[in-house]
Amino acid sequence: MFETLSERLGGVFDRLRGRGALSEADVRTAMREVRIALLEADVALPVVRTFIDKVTEAAVGAQVLRSVTPGQQVVKIVHDALVEMLGADASELDIAVNPPAVIMMVGLQGSGKTTTTAKLARRLTERDRKKVLMASLDVNRPAAQQQLATLGEQVEVATLPIVDGQQPVDIARRALSAAKLQGFDVLLLDTAGRLHVDQALMDEMRAVADVSAPQEVLLVVDALTGQDAVNVAQSFTAQVPLTGVVLTRMDGDARGGAALSMRAVTERPIKFIGTGEKMDGLEAFHPQRVAGRILGMGDVVSLVERAAETIQVEEAEKLAAKMAKGQFDMDDLRAQLLQMRRMGGLGALAGMIPGMKKAQAAMASGAVDEKILVRMDAIITSMTPRERARPDLLNAKRKIRVAKGSGTTVQDVNRLLKMHQEMANAMKKIKKMGGLKGLAAMFGK
Ligand code: GDP
Repeated sequence: MFETLSERLGGVFDRLRGRGALSEADVRTAMREVRIALLEADVALPVVRTFIDKVTEAAVGAQVLRSVTPGQQVVKIVHDALVEMLGADASELDIAVNPPAVIMMVGLQGSGKTTTTAKLARRLTERDRKKVLMASLDVNRPAAQQQLATLGEQVEVATLPIVDGQQPVDIARRALSAAKLQGFDVLLLDTAGRLHVDQALMDEMRAVADVSAPQEVLLVVDALTGQDAVNVAQSFTAQVPLTGVVLTRMDGDARGGAALSMRAVTERPIKFIGTGEKMDGLEAFHPQRVAGRILGMGDVVSLVERAAETIQVEEAEKLAAKMAKGQFDMDDLRAQLLQMRRMGGLGALAGMIPGMKKAQAAMASGAVDEKILVRMDAIITSMTPRERARPDLLNAKRKIRVAKGSGTTVQDVNRLLKMHQEMANAMKKIKKMGGLKGLAAMFGK
């Protein structure tokens, strides 16, 4: 996601950064290019206008233009505006109430509502250790209730027994009392979808909300539908008390416009994104990280979290201890690369690592991903243990030896060293941000 936009903006900013001094005209030219890039990414026109006006005003100020690094400053202004556009802080689910907390899932048919309900149930069960009950209120689509029951078995989450012929509001009542009686922490209500937004659907949503008093009403929309997703969200917002949005199919080739306009148009935060058909394809939405990803600044925090899901706890603890000391050597990088191979190649992760974006652009297929990982591994294996612990020892002569030993080139070795340096810096930053405590939370649960 966001690849094209990211590339376009990267080009604009490289030109800006490449100059010592900037004039107001330079900034305005750059902003025109940013505007086109956003429109091509399918961001809603009014949102683009507001964004560009705000950024231009801040960027042509004397303080920025006369500063030592004007280009860098403009990028920072764009970054901050992007974060604001995406919704500032990450919005957590609000389920800290007397149990059961009710989460109502709404959306059109085919948006991924049922799948997302099961994914969310899994996340709440596994990550947050909640006791979760799911109930399908979809009596329109044949087999919808059975679909949720099947997914429930798959993710090992309880579903409300199906009673044929019962209507949505009655199912909601029954689910609520079952959840209360049986001590569930969270009740997820998967409501019926429709092909289009219609009044009957909205009335039904409101009636269900009336009897179940949900803490969260999450709208599920398909990111691939671009501006339509935003229009659907707008119609729902006007009729149901939405608390947030889940954008599905962010793993597809959505241009990103829906994600970027959603907050501004609906005034509701994106809380999660769907990133695959499988049950682990759900991520919390972090505006800071997404803005960083769009601007090619990497997203190490997401990377570390992703890794935490597959990484062995012992390995993680070892790594955390090293990071606490501000160390991150070649052996650690190698361990990370192995993890990546286990996690299914570089494609999905490359965008998250600083400095890897360009390498990623050069890779065409999954097969190439794998080859690059193998090559990186060969380079590290060709280093002596001392070099691995202290990569700064690698002078020109040593680099030639390592390149020969691994059947690569000195440029390949340099690229790997640069990547290591960037990751080590990022690790230091993580240390500063959350320190061991934050890491423990990420790794250990
Ligand atoms: P509903 O009618 O809104 O309940 O939609 P479903 O949950 O049945 O999903 C429709 C299709 O979209 C299914 O084939 C899902 O596997 C697929 N799907 C849902 N979320 C995602 C996602 O985030 N990524 C991808 N690639 N597919 C998804």
